[in-house]
Amino acid sequence: MQSINEIDELIKNISKLPGLGPKSARRIILKLINHKEDLFKPTINSMANVFKNIIRCKECGSIKSEKSSCLNCQKSSKKTSKICIVETIADQWSVENSNVFNGYYHILGGTLNNINNKLNQHFLIDSLISKIKKNNIDEVIIATSATIEGQTTSFYIQDCLKDLNIKISKLAQGIPIGGEIDSLDDGTLSSAFKNRGSL
Ligand SMILES: [Zn+2]
Repeated sequence: MQSINEIDELIKNISKLPGLGPKSARRIILKLINHKEDLFKPTINSMANVFKNIIRCKECGSIKSEKSSCLNCQKSSKKTSKICIVETIADQWSVENSNVFNGYYHILGGTLNNINNKLNQHFLIDSLISKIKKNNIDEVIIATSATIEGQTTSFYIQDCLKDLNIKISKLAQGIPIGGEIDSLDDGTLSSAFKNRGSL
């Protein structure tokens, strides 16, 4: 295969993305090169826009546009006074798609295992506690993965919230051992929510 430095570098970067290896990265890049104006250009523009304007919300850890307020933090009469704590944005989207929960979300941005220092700051614990108080939250649902890291993180969060007078629950039946929230189907996730238990 003909080797061109610029393309090799792009293949190397694209193949680091989830679900893609060098072969699919090559196919994507060739498709883009063959459709420079109608696909490559708009893709680059959209990526540049997202890169420039999308940031992590300092209160809930979700993503938001720099120019507008965070939809997840926004108060709404349609939201219940509950907060669901998840590890990643992908987990938030999975729970949202299952339509089983309509309260607020708090996104940790990782687990105890992959965040080594400044845990409270990274997990936005202060902001979580102040939101619980400010919005009269009556229940926090910890929806971390059923992995060792996820469960350790769950214990850590429980400990951070132990002095608050609220119900703390976590997802129960439905999650297979070693399973990650992001990979569950809607039915399994829905059953896990319905069968959540008090801690
Ligand atoms: Zn937010």
